[in-house]
Amino acid sequence: MNKLKNKVAVVTGGNSGIGFGIAEAFKNEGAIGSITGRNQETLDNCVQELGADFIGIKSDVTKMEDLEQIFKETFNKFGKLDILVVNAGGVVDGVQMSSVSDVTEENFDKYIDLNLKSSYFTVQKALPYLNDGASIILIGSSAAHRAAPGMTIYGAAKAAIISLAKGLSHDLLDRKIRVNSLSPGSIDTPAFGKMIPQEQLEEVKQIWKNIIPVGRMGLPSEMGKIAVFLASDDSVFIVGTEILADGGMTNIN
Ligand code: NDP
Repeated sequence: MNKLKNKVAVVTGGNSGIGFGIAEAFKNEGAIGSITGRNQETLDNCVQELGADFIGIKSDVTKMEDLEQIFKETFNKFGKLDILVVNAGGVVDGVQMSSVSDVTEENFDKYIDLNLKSSYFTVQKALPYLNDGASIILIGSSAAHRAAPGMTIYGAAKAAIISLAKGLSHDLLDRKIRVNSLSPGSIDTPAFGKMIPQEQLEEVKQIWKNIIPVGRMGLPSEMGKIAVFLASDDSVFIVGTEILADGGMTNIN
C-alpha cells in the first residue's frame, strides 16, 4: 500500500491509457504529483479521479518551454521530485507510414520528435529538480524488438529509448539516479482505438488475443504495477535495464 509514500512523481501523458494506469498505481502506493498532456478536458477528468494530491499540467512534450514548465510547476507545488515517468508518445495522429515510399522527411521527424527527442529532453529538463537517488522510467515498446506493419520508424525510435535508459543511467550515476525502460506489448488503451477503424476494432482485438501467448491484451493497471516496482526501492539494484511486458509475444511466440 505504501511503497511510494509521499514520493513526488511526474507522469507525462498521464491523462490517458498506460500513463493514467501508472498514475493510479502510484497513487494507490501513496505517491503524489503531476500528470501531463495536451488535452485539458481529459487532464481535468483524470485529476478528478486521482484526487487532490495530483495536479494536471497542460503541456506538449515536443516543446522545450512546456517541458520546463512541467518541472517548475511540480517543484513549486510539491517541493521535490522523486520519480519521473516519460510516457507521452506513441503513433503520430493522422500519419500513416505503411510502406517505405510513404515515409516523408517531415513525418519521419515527427515520429522522432514525439518519441525519442521528447524523451531525452524531458529527462534533461527534469534534472535540476530531481532528487539524487531518483528513479526515471522511460516507456519503450515491444515494437522495438518485433516488426509490425507501419511501425518501422516508431519501433526504431522506441529501440533508441531503450538505449537511452542505459546511456542516461551511466551519465547520471554520480547522482545515483536510476533510469530503466518499461516496454509494453499490446495494451488495451485509447491509442489502440485510434489506430484501427471503429468497425474493425473487436475483430482486431480478437486477432491480438490469438497471437499473444497469454491469450489477451495487457492492461494499463498491469503496467502501473511494474512502474511501481521500478520506481520503488524494491528495484534498487536494477539500473539501465528494460522490462519487456508483452504477454510473451516477443520471446515465446
Ligand atoms: P494513449 O493515446 O492512451 O496516451 C498517449 C498519451 O500521450 C496521452 O496522454 C497523450 O495526451 C500524450 N501525448 C501524446 N502526444 C503528446 C504530446 N505531443 N505532448 C504531450 N503529451 C502527448 O496511448 P498509450 O497509453 O497506449 O501510450 C502511452 C505510451 O505507451 C506511449 O509512449 C506508447 O508509445 C507506449 N506504448 C503503448 C502500447 C500500447 O499497446 N498501447 C504498446 C507499447 C508502447 P494528449 O493527447 O492529451 O496530449
